[in-house]
Amino acid sequence: MVDLLIVGSGLFGAVFAREMTDRGYSCLVLEKRDHIGGNVYTKEIEGIQVHRYGAHIFHTNDEKVWKYAGRFARFNRYTNSPIANYHGEIYSMPFNMHTFNKMWGVVTPEEAQAEIQRQRQSRFVEHPANLEEQAINLVGVDIYEKLIKGYTEKQWGRPCDQLPAFIIRRLPVRLTYDNNYFNALYQGIPMGGYTKMVERMLEGIPVQLNTDYLQQRDYWNNQARKVIYTGPIDAYFGYSLGALEYREVRFETQVLDMPNYQGNAVVNYTDRETPYTRIIEHKHFEFGTQPKTVISREYSVEWKPGREPYYPVNDEKNTALYQKYRQLADKEEQVLFGGRLGEYRYYDMDQVIAAALEAAEKTQL
Ligand code: FAD
Ligand code: UDP
Repeated sequence: MVDLLIVGSGLFGAVFAREMTDRGYSCLVLEKRDHIGGNVYTKEIEGIQVHRYGAHIFHTNDEKVWKYAGRFARFNRYTNSPIANYHGEIYSMPFNMHTFNKMWGVVTPEEAQAEIQRQRQSRFVEHPANLEEQAINLVGVDIYEKLIKGYTEKQWGRPCDQLPAFIIRRLPVRLTYDNNYFNALYQGIPMGGYTKMVERMLEGIPVQLNTDYLQQRDYWNNQARKVIYTGPIDAYFGYSLGALEYREVRFETQVLDMPNYQGNAVVNYTDRETPYTRIIEHKHFEFGTQPKTVISREYSVEWKPGREPYYPVNDEKNTALYQKYRQLADKEEQVLFGGRLGEYRYYDMDQVIAAALEAAEKTQL
């Protein structure tokens, strides 16, 4: 018998377990995979930390979260500045003066601003209702067509006019020559990998791998006073109201016998024809100088029950369905739902840490 059973050893579960253990509660973490860390898991191949479930760059404006993460890892000075490859044309991301210069030959912010203004004029809408309208409002038609439309439709498997506008507002648009992908005050990659960081969070806390809580739910509920569930909320309820939709990412990872394949950690393929969305070259997250390199091509596919869910599809239909599951979840007295899958939210790592810290503060037995 333990005080708290924590289902899932991702960042939410690991932070929550750490906090509650430090408050004197006994915790047991269950994980259905054969490793800890959830989607931030990294595995060493050829001396390189490979991000097994997609590139993860830690970034935050929240000083408390930055300090908290710093207790478990030293962060390097990596700054994300992806490259967009549109049919072999190379553009700087996010949208900044380098991008505008390459696209239109403009040199000053004033010229860039005028060109964006000219490009969006004919299709400007006061209140953008979808991603396409929002993107054209922000950067005009050329950039929408070359750098956004193809990538977004590959990534989400839906036309841009059927996707929520907020997705594209995640990206900065800058009239400066600053190609830092994030506006965050703090950014970096944990030296030695994310798995090591999560291992440190879980130090001294029992973790049972290869164990699916849902397969023996009654047994496990009897082992704990309270359960924290960070798996998919719809799976918890046996998909009784229907399945929430996710996007899944399929990775094709290769070790190459060369020191440097693409010269950057992240290259986005923004045309519709290239079947993958991006190629990650993992060593560049750590300024690696190994003789070999490891790359992963990312293919975005529609998720099916039984597969790994990655991105929640936060459109109207799914948000409404989630709200119904939420109402059921609120009635579960013994169980608290948390994290990206438990709350069906497009959470970044720092937000998940903040949410887990807050949940721990509120939890009393
Ligand atoms: P997860 O990491 O999904 O952990 C949930 C855990 O629960 C998993 O280990 C799962 O196996 C386990 N589990 C589920 N069901 C059960 C069950 N029934 N029994 C036992 N165990 C179960 N964030 C950033 O800040 N920067 C980035 O660059 C970034 N890049 C991303 C790229 C991709 C491709 C994706 C998908 C996400 C990215 N994120 C990024 C977001 C980041 O991955 C999440 O915010 C974070 O990992 C969520 O942690 P979590 O604990 O909520 O969920
Ligand atoms: N996006 C795009 N072109 C790019 C990169 C991103 O159109 O080269 C769009 C795409 O719709 C994506 C959104 O911007 O879903 C947010 O990008 P971000 O990198 O934040 O997505 P993540 O992979 O972190 O979820």
